[in-house]
Amino acid sequence: MIVRAGGIDFVGELNSDQYSVVSAPANRPTLVLAGAGSGKTRTLTYRVAWLISELGFSPRDILLLTFTNKAARQMLERIQALTGFLPSEFWGGTFHSIGNRFLRIEGKNIGIEPNFEILDAEDSEGLLKNVVNSEYPKFFSDKNNPRAGLLYDVISYARNTMLSIPSAMACRFSWIETPSAQIVDIANAYEFEKRKRNYCDFDDLLTLWFKLLKDCPDVLQKYNARFANILVDEYQDTNKIQSEIIDLLAHRGQITAVGDDAQCIYSWRGAEIDNILEFRERHPSASIYKIERNYRSTPQILKFANAILSQMDCDVDYKKSLVAARAGMNKPVVIRAMDGISQGRRVAECISAIVDSGQYRYEDIAVLYRSHFQAMDLQLQLQYGKIPFAITSGLKFFEQAHVKDVIAQIRFAVNPYDKISFLRIVKFLPKVGEKTADKILAKLEELAEKRGKPPLSLLCDKELLSKVPAAARDTFKIVAADIMSLGEILKTVPSGAYKSSEPSESGAGDAFQYDLFSNDALENLHSGTESKESGLANGPKELVRAACTGWYKGAMKSSYEDWEERVEDLDSLFEYAGRFDNIGEFLDNIALEMSETGSKPFEPGDGISRVRLMTVHQAKGLEFPVVFVIGAAEGLFPSKRSIDDGDVEEERRLFYVASTRAMNHLIISYPRVAVNNGVYEMREPSRFLQDIDPSLYDSDIDLGY
Ligand code: ATP
Ligand code: MG
Repeated sequence: MIVRAGGIDFVGELNSDQYSVVSAPANRPTLVLAGAGSGKTRTLTYRVAWLISELGFSPRDILLLTFTNKAARQMLERIQALTGFLPSEFWGGTFHSIGNRFLRIEGKNIGIEPNFEILDAEDSEGLLKNVVNSEYPKFFSDKNNPRAGLLYDVISYARNTMLSIPSAMACRFSWIETPSAQIVDIANAYEFEKRKRNYCDFDDLLTLWFKLLKDCPDVLQKYNARFANILVDEYQDTNKIQSEIIDLLAHRGQITAVGDDAQCIYSWRGAEIDNILEFRERHPSASIYKIERNYRSTPQILKFANAILSQMDCDVDYKKSLVAARAGMNKPVVIRAMDGISQGRRVAECISAIVDSGQYRYEDIAVLYRSHFQAMDLQLQLQYGKIPFAITSGLKFFEQAHVKDVIAQIRFAVNPYDKISFLRIVKFLPKVGEKTADKILAKLEELAEKRGKPPLSLLCDKELLSKVPAAARDTFKIVAADIMSLGEILKTVPSGAYKSSEPSESGAGDAFQYDLFSNDALENLHSGTESKESGLANGPKELVRAACTGWYKGAMKSSYEDWEERVEDLDSLFEYAGRFDNIGEFLDNIALEMSETGSKPFEPGDGISRVRLMTVHQAKGLEFPVVFVIGAAEGLFPSKRSIDDGDVEEERRLFYVASTRAMNHLIISYPRVAVNNGVYEMREPSRFLQDIDPSLYDSDIDLGY
């Protein structure tokens, strides 16, 4: 079903190295190790098209693992243009989203209920805190013990690297004084609590997925036989558990991985550069390809990038340099500014000049930085200059309190035993803390059992109200009525099954058909998984609208000074909800958006052209005609912490990633002076700049745009 007239011209649209990879046999382990902008992602896209159009596989035979869901969507849209198959027909996404899919469908084999709820990082931390408080009530009052956030990091690092907690502590958290046995205890109690409440945190989506494949040979065999090829982008940033999962699924050798060891920037999340360096040892029959030509950047930008590469401590086998396929333009420019404010002003002026020149629009321009705080001065200057921008770092859209408040109401209406969501709602009520909330929930459960009624219908029951402190009772009734009306809307909305044209193996609708919500309040939602009648398709939208109005509107006004701006966010949430027609997909997608460190938050869909502001980590895999990298000074980039730790190599790779995002123009700036605790300090230019031959860039000149 090739839709493009005349078929796909694989030879014409790829260079010979890329073509060799695309046309390699499906069953041979294939690794592409190539520099930034050499077309690795493009090669994977064409490989999928090849598997379908030349080798006759169907979309269901292919598993595509990428770093962000957005990257997967972009690739699949491109594949659709080439082959005609819809993105929804493939299994493509991040490890977490594919893990979610496996567990929804097959989790029952290891005792995971398919209607589990995904906890985001904040919720997981909250749960961990509760667990510690009940197991070791004095734990947090001892200042030598780690806070909940750090505890979560330790547990998470251990799980991602598959190390024991004592080993993870020794290797990355050696300054923590708490005995490791105590942290092991806490981790076990946290685990127990999650299973008891049918929660999965982000790491569970990987560790339980691994357990499923390891413990259930039938399941493994099924998917091993099913996937004709498993394609992995950004392979250099996979961690231990991810590589183990891939190796299990791909043990017939049906893997195509692409990556660049010089772009490994996630070791703090357990990324294991050895996964790529030892690929051949793990897959002795592997073919390893290099692609030297770079299609993204001008020769001047590539010379600059090569200078960064040459300073790296690379494995000799994999030493590479980038060869330009494009014609030349300007050299990169380095701007020296007085301080953060003048740096911001200078960047804003340059952006205006570039756009006024008529060659570029705002959206062609990105400003990258090492850490989010560096964007503050710039944002102000952009506002002064009336330059529209979208910031894709800092608190992500779905992590904002008001967005979470609204989602919590929907989640609670879906599952009235969801303690975390309930706590989020009752925090607005006077005199209701965690203990009272627990009592109310326990009562609700008891009443539902005793009376054989759905719990939502009992929210205004007298016996339940007796558990609510008198001061909060009136408001509670209003909140309860609102939640109950969400429950009414839910009855008219499809519950939640992955939508896919996936033909069922048994013919009886297995794979994607899972009952997302099994509690009795939602019994009548199970009748269908797709929109049953017209008008139901906007269910998630309708729920968001209802949750934003009513009681919550008033609560917002009295809780948040900037409530008007927050209302605008909720309008965006409303718009986002319109993209889904069942609640399961809507809630899963929100949770999974938050699992992506490198992901962009939900973008406003108003079509206005905006400059992009983001951290270098978030710019992974992206490209822009014009790129600014700000804050290239010692102590900022490389960060002070990396300098103090005596290991700046990952920061150097990050600088390489930043510079190689640029297609036509690369502008690097640094402030000479920084304010530290009210004191002015001189800053040196970044050592990464100092390591580069000054003839490879222009300094602080009139940019001539
Ligand atoms: P990164 O390491 O940053 O992820 P990459 O290796 O994945 O980069 P791509 O993003 O796939 O590189 O490609 C970089 C740019 O070069 C894209 O705009 C892509 O369309 C273009 N490109 C790649 N190969 C070719 C080719 N053979 N002909 C024309 N354009 C190409
Ligand atoms: Mg790429």
